[in-house]
Amino acid sequence: MDEFSLINTFFKSISHHRPDVIFGIGDDAACLDVPPGMNLLVSCDTLVEDVHFKSHWGAYNIACRAVMVNVSDIAAMGGTPCWATLALTLPTYDEVWLKCFSDGLHDSFARFNIALIGGDTTRGPLSITLTIHGLVEKGHVIKRSGASVGDKIYVSGELGAAALGVDVLTGPPIPEADHTLLMKKLFHPHPRVDLQPYLQAFATAAIDISDGLSSDLNHLCSASGVGACLNTDTVPIHPLVKHYKRGAALDFALHGGDDYELCFTLAAKDEPQLKTLLRTAGLICYPIGVIEKKLGLRLKTFEGQIDSLDPAGYKHF
Ligand code: ADP
Ligand code: MG
Repeated sequence: MDEFSLINTFFKSISHHRPDVIFGIGDDAACLDVPPGMNLLVSCDTLVEDVHFKSHWGAYNIACRAVMVNVSDIAAMGGTPCWATLALTLPTYDEVWLKCFSDGLHDSFARFNIALIGGDTTRGPLSITLTIHGLVEKGHVIKRSGASVGDKIYVSGELGAAALGVDVLTGPPIPEADHTLLMKKLFHPHPRVDLQPYLQAFATAAIDISDGLSSDLNHLCSASGVGACLNTDTVPIHPLVKHYKRGAALDFALHGGDDYELCFTLAAKDEPQLKTLLRTAGLICYPIGVIEKKLGLRLKTFEGQIDSLDPAGYKHF
């Protein structure tokens, strides 16, 4: 199969229709209708074999993960994902692999109404680069740099399960039901686009948790020129992490990556209203601390002692 039939079979065929795509795959560039009153968000992530995933994770799972980590970046900006391009480098032509990969892309894009509008296909070591384009109302983008002293810090879900999933892959076997759940957390994270209206209404700053809460909150604080103090007793730890990691559970929640929940800040005065709206919508977000003037991260222990918290997460260099 040549490059062009490959593109048609596995990528052009899976791109579903969006009325704002004037044309997508097939020309030298895609052409899009960007609505007036909106800003365009663009975010790109590369997944490299043996760095971000292992080939035995399966092509379907790898494709889903590639889409989800990109969608999560758009969610963290308070936007809606719309279009994607895919730069794919493949070591060989493997029809079974490509079919599974293409199915994973199709299912993930369909879930978020994203059209695949173009890309590039090359031969080389397996690497997947996805660029997602999203929309946000003009002037309403939520940045990392907007947190102010006194703002409350929230996180959108229980933490540590994806990092435990990585641990489980190389560790001794655990009961099948737990294993399945952890693999789901690792391979199929749920980007929090559902929080978009609440972030739009209240968030002063936001970031998605890809490297780990401590590391990503530290990015948010540095960008905002502030520090933060977290409460040990309110950091939400996934129940399976508590079960399997016991004494190390908090470390998994604070420093483990890949959860793709959102960490955001809001003015203390808006907290009661946010809580009411989330409760009405059946959503749960967890208050985990407060933004402070003193730079750096701190952790208030169960006993009320304040310890400094060193950000630790995944770093490539
Ligand atoms: P060019 O030589 O102009 O860069 P290509 O031959 O690389 O064009 O690609 C042909 C068309 O297929 C383009 O519209 C391109 O965006 C699209 N395309 C190539 N690879 C992919 C891919 N992996 N996924 C989606 N679209 C792709
Ligand atoms: Mg090309």
